[in-house]
Amino acid sequence: MASLGWIAAVCAARGLWRRVACTASGLRDPCPGRGYAVGPAQSPPTFGFLLDIDGVLVRGHRVIPAALEAFRRLVNSQGQLRVPVVFVTNAGNILQHGKAQELSSLFGFKVDPDQVILSHSPLKLFSQFHGKRMLVSGQGPLVENARALGFQNVVTVDELRTAFPVLDMVDLERRPKTTPLLRNDFPAIEGVLLLGEPVRWETSLQLIMDVLLSNGNPGTGLATAPYPHLPVLASNMDLLWMAEAKMPRFGHGTFLLCLETIYRKVTGKELRYEGLMGKPSILTYQYAEDLIRQQAERRGWAATIQKLYAVGDNPMSDVYGANLFHQYLQMAKHQGTGELGASGLRKQQPSASQSCTSILVCTGVYSPKDPEQVESAQGREEPPFHGHRDFSFSPGLMEASHIVNDVNEAVQLVFRKEGWAL
Ligand SMILES: [Mg+2]
Repeated sequence: MASLGWIAAVCAARGLWRRVACTASGLRDPCPGRGYAVGPAQSPPTFGFLLDIDGVLVRGHRVIPAALEAFRRLVNSQGQLRVPVVFVTNAGNILQHGKAQELSSLFGFKVDPDQVILSHSPLKLFSQFHGKRMLVSGQGPLVENARALGFQNVVTVDELRTAFPVLDMVDLERRPKTTPLLRNDFPAIEGVLLLGEPVRWETSLQLIMDVLLSNGNPGTGLATAPYPHLPVLASNMDLLWMAEAKMPRFGHGTFLLCLETIYRKVTGKELRYEGLMGKPSILTYQYAEDLIRQQAERRGWAATIQKLYAVGDNPMSDVYGANLFHQYLQMAKHQGTGELGASGLRKQQPSASQSCTSILVCTGVYSPKDPEQVESAQGREEPPFHGHRDFSFSPGLMEASHIVNDVNEAVQLVFRKEGWAL
C-alpha cells in the first residue's frame, strides 16, 4: 500500500484523545415517550453519524432494540433523518441496494443505497483497474458487485477452476476423474480482487496463489514467480466478526492472513496490496465523509458538516478507524490533504470535517464483561493485535473517545454535546 509510510507515522503519534468513559447511568431519556420533536428554531446540522451495522443495529437477523429507539430520535415526523447518517459496514458479500432495502424494512424509514458503505465501496475510485481482467474472490453476488464497482472484466474462482480442473486438488471428491486437456486459450488474469470471505477457502487460496505465481496464466506455470506480483485489491480486513453465536466468527481478515502467510512461506516475499479498504482504512472514512457531505447538500442544509461521530462495536475496526481518520484530519489541517490520500489515491475533495469521534457500544464484539477488552478499550492494557499486517499496532488508537451501552445512548450523547433536543 502506497500510504503505509504515512500510516505508520500517524500511528506513532498516540494519546490525542481524551477518554470519557460513559456508563449507562445518566444517559437515559428522563422523559421517555415525550417525543423528540425539534423546535422551529433548530438550525441545520453541523455533524453527522457513521453507524456500523452488525453489533450496533443488528445481531445476525435480530434488531437490537436500542437501534429502534435511536432512530426515533434521528428521524423526524416526516420520516426524514434530522442529521446526515451513513451506514458503514465491513460486510461485502451483499449488494448495496439490498442492504439499503433491508435497513429500510427493519427500521421503518427510507434508506438510500448511497447511504450504505460496504467494505468494497471505495473500489469505485480505483478506475485504473476497472478495465483489467480481474480474478474475483468472495461469495454471494460477486460478479454483480464487481460490475457495480466499475470492473468490467471479471473471472470468478469457480470459472477459473472450471477452466483448469487440475488446479483444485484438496477435496478428493472434486478432483477430476480423468485428465482434462490443457488449454491455452484462456486470457491472462491481470489482477486479483478480494471482496470478501469465500466459501471453499482451500480452493480460493490455491487458485489465487496459482494466479499470482504464474503472472496470471495458471495453465502454464512459471519457473520463477514474478515480483512484484499482479496487483491485488482487498476489502474487509476484519479478523473476526459477531453474529448470533456467543463467540466471534472468522472474518475476511482471517482469510487474508492465510493468503499472506502462504505467499510469504512459498516465495519468501511479502504479499503486497494496491489497495486495502473497509474500516479501519482512511479511504473508507474519506468515502463516508464525501457521502455525508453530499447527503447534507441534497437536503439543502447550508451549514458545513464539521464533526463526524462514528459508532461501532469493534475496537479494532470501528474505534481504530475513527481515531486514525481523526488523526488524518488533524494532520490535513496543518499540512494540506494533497499528499495524504490513503492507498495512493489523491483525495477528491478537501475534508471540511474537523473531527471524527469514536463511540464504542457494548452490543457486539466489545463486551464490558470481558476484563481484557475493558482494559484495552480504556487504554490500560495492551490487547492482542487483531488488525491487519499493514496497520501498525497502536493501542492508543483502539481507545474509544466514549464508551456507551448501545447506539441509542450514543445518539443521546452526541445530541447533548451538540446542544440538540433529545
Ligand atoms: Mg460491527
